[in-house]
Amino acid sequence: MSAFQRETVLSVEHWTDSLFSFTATRDPGFRFQNGQFAMIGLEVDGRPLMRAYSMASANHENALEFFSIKVPDGPLTSRLQKIREGDIILVGRKATGTLISGNLIPGKRLLLLSTGTGLAPFASLIKDPDVYESYETIILAHGCRQVSELAYGECVVAKLREDEFFGPLIENRLIYYPTVTREPFRNRGRITDLIAQGQLFSDVGLSGLDRETDRVMLCGSPGMLGELQAMLTARGFVEGNHSTPGHFVVEKAFVER
Ligand SMILES: Cc1cc2nc3c(=O)[nH]c(=O)nc-3n(C[C@H](O)[C@H](O)[C@H](O)COP(=O)(O)OP(=O)(O)OC[C@H]3O[C@@H](n4cnc5c(N)ncnc54)[C@H](O)[C@@H]3O)c2cc1C
Repeated sequence: MSAFQRETVLSVEHWTDSLFSFTATRDPGFRFQNGQFAMIGLEVDGRPLMRAYSMASANHENALEFFSIKVPDGPLTSRLQKIREGDIILVGRKATGTLISGNLIPGKRLLLLSTGTGLAPFASLIKDPDVYESYETIILAHGCRQVSELAYGECVVAKLREDEFFGPLIENRLIYYPTVTREPFRNRGRITDLIAQGQLFSDVGLSGLDRETDRVMLCGSPGMLGELQAMLTARGFVEGNHSTPGHFVVEKAFVER
């Protein structure tokens, strides 16, 4: 049995010159926890070219969804950005990752802090009914440079609010906080600063960061992760993993090559 399944692209949406999302068929045998990632890719010259991708769809959905960067000379994404409906992609059979609720000790508020395509695992998690069972409030923060880069996240949240089942469930519980650094927008600044200075909390009318009640998931650029990890650790938050749950968990949105 191959390590990869062949799945068919169902739809592709281009959000900006550097971001797109797509859906694909899902083998019924492909199981994952919301927030996890798998290896996905294309067959190039008869060989699999694979990269780590977070599932942006939830595990109760029939189709798979991914939110992707377009790196101009990137080995995979220079090709992947050209996929169309009906094309074949490869999806690894095994899902993994640290951004799962079992890696956190129980709390009252769940903060999902992302930059760029780091939003993807949280697009999955906010569609998980168990998350709303476990936490009173879920704060989804997404930081980008330009307003246009927020479009995919805005669309995911808007669809969820319109959904017959999720609409009532997330009302006043899911707080979506998009912010940009390089253009005028209602929320401005880096997530790191907005958290550290308490601005994000005061903007949405909530009390500031509190280790007793808050659990945090981080997914973003190496710089953003490093700064937030240091800030949380300085405030007594302990990082969780598969063997020992903690106050926060971290996943890289990409690695610098
Ligand atoms: C755990 C994990 C989960 C990931 N999930 C996703 C995901 O859901 N969506 C996604 O688009 N990518 C994701 N990535 C990154 C992905 O694996 C690839 O790096 C990306 O698809 C580019 O592939 P490439 O072959 O075109 O270029 P690569 O050779 O892989 O990357 C070239 C350079 O592009 C930059 N880069 C790569 N990915 C990104 C990114 N996402 N955002 C900003 N800059 C980037 C980096 O500087 C990197 O050095 C994830 C990476 C990890 C480790």
